[in-house]
Amino acid sequence: MVGATLALVGSSAVYADAVKQTKGKYEDKFRQLEEILPTPNVYRNAAGEPGHAYWQQKVDYDIKANLDEAKRRITATEDITYTNNSPDTLKYLWLQLDQNIFKPDSIANMANNFGGIGRRGPAAAAGDASRPARLSLGELRRQQYLTDNEVGYDIQAVTANGKALKHTIVGTLMRVDLPTPLKPGKSTEFTVQWAFNIVEEDAVSARSGYEHFPDDEREGGNDIFLLAQWFPRLVAYTDYEAWTNKEFLGRGEFTLEFGDYEVEMTVPADHIVSSTGVLQNPKQVLTAEQRARLEEAKTAKRPVFVVTAEEALENEKEGTTDTKTWKFEAENVRDFAWASSRKFMWDAKGYQQGGNDMPFVMAMSFYPKEGGDLWKKYSTESIIHTMEVYSRFSFDYPDPVAQSVNGPVGGMEYPMITFNGPRTTLQDDGSRTYSLAEKRFLIGVVIHEVGHNYFPMIVNSDERQWTWMDEGLNSFLDGVAGREWDPTIPWGVEPRDITGYMKSNTQVPIMTQSDSVLRLGPNAYTKPAAALNILRETILGRELFDYAFKEYSMRWKHKRPTPSDFFRTMEEASGVDLDWFWRGWFFSTDHVDISLDRIYKMRMDTKDPDIDYARRREEEHAKPTSLTNIRNKEIGKTWVELNPDVKDFHDENDRWTVTNKQRNKYNSFLKGLKPWERKVFDRAVSEDKNYYVLEFSNKGGLVMPIILGLTYADGTTEKQYIPAEIWRRTPDAVKKLIVTDKNKELVQVVVDPDWETADTDVENNHYPRRIVPSRVETYKRSRSSSLAGRDLMQEATTKLKKDEKKDEKTSEKKEGDAS
Ligand SMILES: [Zn+2]
Repeated sequence: MVGATLALVGSSAVYADAVKQTKGKYEDKFRQLEEILPTPNVYRNAAGEPGHAYWQQKVDYDIKANLDEAKRRITATEDITYTNNSPDTLKYLWLQLDQNIFKPDSIANMANNFGGIGRRGPAAAAGDASRPARLSLGELRRQQYLTDNEVGYDIQAVTANGKALKHTIVGTLMRVDLPTPLKPGKSTEFTVQWAFNIVEEDAVSARSGYEHFPDDEREGGNDIFLLAQWFPRLVAYTDYEAWTNKEFLGRGEFTLEFGDYEVEMTVPADHIVSSTGVLQNPKQVLTAEQRARLEEAKTAKRPVFVVTAEEALENEKEGTTDTKTWKFEAENVRDFAWASSRKFMWDAKGYQQGGNDMPFVMAMSFYPKEGGDLWKKYSTESIIHTMEVYSRFSFDYPDPVAQSVNGPVGGMEYPMITFNGPRTTLQDDGSRTYSLAEKRFLIGVVIHEVGHNYFPMIVNSDERQWTWMDEGLNSFLDGVAGREWDPTIPWGVEPRDITGYMKSNTQVPIMTQSDSVLRLGPNAYTKPAAALNILRETILGRELFDYAFKEYSMRWKHKRPTPSDFFRTMEEASGVDLDWFWRGWFFSTDHVDISLDRIYKMRMDTKDPDIDYARRREEEHAKPTSLTNIRNKEIGKTWVELNPDVKDFHDENDRWTVTNKQRNKYNSFLKGLKPWERKVFDRAVSEDKNYYVLEFSNKGGLVMPIILGLTYADGTTEKQYIPAEIWRRTPDAVKKLIVTDKNKELVQVVVDPDWETADTDVENNHYPRRIVPSRVETYKRSRSSSLAGRDLMQEATTKLKKDEKKDEKTSEKKEGDAS
């Protein structure tokens, strides 16, 4: 801290010294967002609520699908009923043909940027002739697979009342021309007949597909089929964009309508099917024993096996050419997915949710033997934990079932059904083990994917445009649920988990269209999750945040919110102006780095010369003496000391000697004060408080509250919260006055002592600065690995090693992108 004195000034405080130049670079970090958000209207109002004329379309599907296991091909007839609730008359309808993304001439394949930052781009050095570019074996496998296989939709017929409808395929979209324009409030029915070859998920990395297990004793062959983005789905028609017909590039997910589904899937008779919706014909596809086990599961304490490990193993050995047809129905869902395999074991446990909407939900998991104990112990329990936590923050889970299915997809969500990747590792002694990372991955991914039932399956945001609206909100809540499950596991959603990304140079704002986002994980998952954490724990507090977040969820349950609806609702319902927060965290790439540069300690002048001049003299004497004078004194006295007889007046007095002239001035100052001024002055002088001025600079650009951890000389500590609004006039630098009692001396101040604001440099938060703890390790120089550097004469004598265990396999760990 730096010592100084504090003189009284008039009430019109001058802060101009804190303001550097504003002309030419002025940016108002608190400017209201209304200036850039879409204008409110009758469909979505200024409060962020559905407006009084809100509408959305309804699309019902009746699908009969056949899975040809040998050909790995789906053939289907799809009856679609489209209800136009918009105020517009529609001449044509657009459908999404997501399977067409795999076609060699798709925009996704043609526009794949080599060397760009992307899912499969080579790491670096393309075009640098001295170093090779990199192409992963996985990417080569994908190219070879797509070259060797016929992929994409085979659209066989589009008809209405038996008559062909004109249809035009545009990449991953298809326009169907209606025989007569569809008026507001009217419905139309038509049929699409189609087929496609199911892609191999491990080769293509597609959020769905089949996985084939090696045909050996250890793995036992057989496939798991995950069917998603599998049927032509209607493009959403909205009040803000009309047809949201944006080509599917693989990243931006889906923009969908709600509707009712009746789906029949004909599969090999020994397959077990898990699906969106409720099974309609259990007597035809399940044994009496399996149905009894399902009944038992409703009230069981732990999951009950409907298909046991032994039964699944038996199914795996045989195979069959017989088929069975499973029938499912789902009401008011935005999508439909399913899974089928003879490898599946199946466990279930009832969840008594209470409430009026859906008092009972059946939680179920489907997994092969490779899932092992990891799945048996944690999958279904994680589903129930998710519903318990998420419902508290939003609304009761509205569907009758919630499922987790193991397959080749790392993590992906659909209504009532999720695909989750982690598995156990088979050891040589036949046991199956899993690491802490795999355990965390399983619990975390099940919570995350089941959590997506709330966002975006029910709060139906536009995923093609805004990944953060589902992934960010969902990652925030999966972090809440994860930490309520086991706080000792790092779930990766703390403010400290995003600092490295926020300081990096390869960034775009969260408010970036999904396909254009750089580094999707930190951008659309972790950063918005951390931001909402900060909003909840630090800025609004739990009560205000939870109220506003629940309000958003309730308002948009089974409806379609946009970003502005979220921003507006959170502000309206919490009553707190958050425009600066949305601006900083969602619309900019600024980061948080608040530095505490200097602290002055000041003491109030008494104006009494007998007191103040003595203090000045003391201060002067406290300064170090000149080295020259010290050394001169060591070797002998100065002339003045050697000749004391010639001392005069000035040797007896110094510049702080008080005369009556000053005393008279002091007395007339006191007399000139009005009675209230005198009272205030006398009190300030007698209390003789400590006045500290803390000087902060904003090095990251993001304005945030300044949270102070104060430590006093008497050992006590205190936390102070300075709202972000302190930065409103001078966003680069601010000063804060802290006044303490005379005996309460400040010895240390730390900004953000609990790491709750995502401050990227915590070292400049300490005043005084601390020694930074770090590590150093020794290393041994390694010899050159260049070709010319080899000891070729020695190497030439090396014998060729024979394979000792030819069949030895390395277990391949799957870590798909969690979606
Ligand atoms: Zn996700």
